[in-house]
Amino acid sequence: MSSVDTTIRLIRTGAQDGSICSPDLAEDPWVIDLERMPGYGPGSSMGDIIPTGSPRQGQIPEEYRTASKDELDARIRAAKETLGERVVVLGHFYQRDEVVEYADFVGDSFQLANQAMTRPKAEAIVFCGVHFMAETADILARPDQSVILTNLAAGCSMADMADIDSVTECWEQLEALYGTEPDADGRAPVIPVTYMNSSAALKGFCGEHGGIVCTSSNATTVLEWAFQRGQRVLFFPDQHLGRNTAKAMGVPLEQLPMWNPRQPLGGNDDQALADAKVILWHGFCSVHRRFTVDQVEKARVDFPGVTVLVHPECPMAVVDAADAAGSTDFIGKAIAAATEPGVFAIGTEINMVNRLAAEYPQHTIFSLDPVVCPCSTMYRIHPSYLAWVLEGLVRGEVINQITVDDAVAVPARIALERMLAAKPGLTAAQVIGD
Ligand code: SF4
Repeated sequence: MSSVDTTIRLIRTGAQDGSICSPDLAEDPWVIDLERMPGYGPGSSMGDIIPTGSPRQGQIPEEYRTASKDELDARIRAAKETLGERVVVLGHFYQRDEVVEYADFVGDSFQLANQAMTRPKAEAIVFCGVHFMAETADILARPDQSVILTNLAAGCSMADMADIDSVTECWEQLEALYGTEPDADGRAPVIPVTYMNSSAALKGFCGEHGGIVCTSSNATTVLEWAFQRGQRVLFFPDQHLGRNTAKAMGVPLEQLPMWNPRQPLGGNDDQALADAKVILWHGFCSVHRRFTVDQVEKARVDFPGVTVLVHPECPMAVVDAADAAGSTDFIGKAIAAATEPGVFAIGTEINMVNRLAAEYPQHTIFSLDPVVCPCSTMYRIHPSYLAWVLEGLVRGEVINQITVDDAVAVPARIALERMLAAKPGLTAAQVIGD
């Protein structure tokens, strides 16, 4: 199977049938970074305050922009060889194959941040992913380690949907409504929960306000943790993960109001917020939002007996129509566990789906979405940037460093540690309460 990159180029030139979701995808990322969306800088959310003096993505030198695939390959391998254990390269599941082939570890964001810790001799952690991932790695890294995001313009559109100012404003409105005193059982009026896919500033906010971080793997356990300590939860930025998780725990939909930061009380009335169990921030993943119930139904018609596996960032109706929903790790393990050849229709990012199809040729594995649509911000990472930052390290120069200030990193670490310590164990009746 050809890589997503190759497929996109073949479709663009008419050499292969099919469609892609944006003509920008066939452009080199430096064209997008500098001509279409200039100025994106470090900080997972464009709305968060970027520390003064932080570097912004500048022009990558021409020698890297014009280097051939073979030349880049030779330069990346030579730089990695020279650096040896002084560097660790991390590649997210959603990165293109042309980048992942150089990664020492491939995984989801939190797995990668932890795997980097297994390389204590690494002076530099080079992240091929997006901003919030590099921020998390910096929060967990030692002070003497540098975390590099290969292209600073690789943000996350979901993380950008919740910035610290909007969340703080929401929090103040909720405090005015609920007060700040715990109930007779000692439970706070509301507990903030942020998805890993959020800025360090929001993780810090949760650390400071008795809250916690979750991943798509542990969202249920984290919500249980939160309901033990609070009467309700404010969940950001991904409404779909929050809704799918809470619904599966038995929370009725009418107790899952959505908070639109552009409207007073998020667009809700006092009663809806008083009755709320989980207040869902108005955010979503532009990749997972594309999956539809029609696609699930078509897969079932085309392949009777197909197993449909989707990510919980997909809309609720898609999750309900699928056979199972879970994190990238869950999807990978579900396929690995299938002993007989089968057919799997997958609702997650196309690079990961294609990699699973290549890894398990005994199965038929395909994306639910017929349109080739990789995560456009993950796609900002290109071998040219990797060669550039690695050769910088060989010269002793740290390019594109991500640094989370201690004022944010310390409380953010508390929220992450709460997540690691959270254990499953609350019943549905305890969640729904009265
Ligand atoms: S796939 Fe979605 S959540 Fe992940 S980085 Fe891309 S936009 Fe963000």
